[in-house]
Amino acid sequence: MHYAPPMARRNSQSTWPEAPAAEAPPTCALCGREVPELVQHHLVPIIAGKRKGLRPQDLPTVGLCPACQQYLHSTFSINELATELNTLEALEQNEQVQKFVKWVRKQPATKGVKAKGRE
Ligand SMILES: [Zn+2]
Repeated sequence: MHYAPPMARRNSQSTWPEAPAAEAPPTCALCGREVPELVQHHLVPIIAGKRKGLRPQDLPTVGLCPACQQYLHSTFSINELATELNTLEALEQNEQVQKFVKWVRKQPATKGVKAKGRE
C-alpha cells in the first residue's frame, strides 16, 4: 500500500468567525496610523489621468489618512505626483515623505493635522 504523508493541515477560513469590518480600523497606507476614516488618494491625479485618456475610476488609488493626503497635495505638484510619485513605493522612498511620515506617526490620529501654518 502506498503511504500518503500527512497533509499540511490547513485551517480553513470558514472556521474563523468572520472579522467584522467595523472593528478593524482603517489604516493609512503611508504612515500606518489607524484613523477613523481614510481618503482615497489617486496615485495618478485625476487631471493627469485625463490627459492620458484615463477615467477617474480607472486610476489606481490608495487609502490614506487625511493628513497624508493633504501633505502630498500641498507639497508636490500634480506633475510630480503623476510622474515621480505615482506608486506607493515611490512615495515611501521619497525623502520628504519619509520625514513627514516620521513626524505624523507621533501625532494623534483623531486630530486634524495642519500641513502648514501655526497652532
Ligand atoms: Zn497617513
